[in-house]
Amino acid sequence: MPQQPLSQVPLDATWEWQEAGACRGADQDLFFHPQNERGLARLRRDRAAKAVCARCAVRVECADYAIRAREPYGVWGGMTEEERERVYLRIELANFPRQRGEGAAAAAEEIARAVAPQALGYA
Ligand code: SF4
Repeated sequence: MPQQPLSQVPLDATWEWQEAGACRGADQDLFFHPQNERGLARLRRDRAAKAVCARCAVRVECADYAIRAREPYGVWGGMTEEERERVYLRIELANFPRQRGEGAAAAAEEIARAVAPQALGYA
């Protein structure tokens, strides 16, 4: 997965959880949209990525990292760029979660909703 500029990476970031990610070995193009992808193509790719994340044992760790890093690109922890952006917008920068676990706590509802049947297109 592409990494954020160092200034965005939380100081206590760890990466061993990626070893257990359900996306390990998967086509990374599923998780990162090509330039100018829009509409149904984007919805389908995002949902396919979310379906992988939904069965991932380290989904919360992944989402926690992505939120704390204000990761702008890709599907992380089952959350799309737009879903994370809404989290970024509702949290004041001064209070932004930076310590491990704080991102998951701050966005617990969004993280849960991200792989709910509706988000996956099943309901
Ligand atoms: S939650 Fe998704 S993006 Fe994150 S490690 Fe798991 S499968 Fe990969």
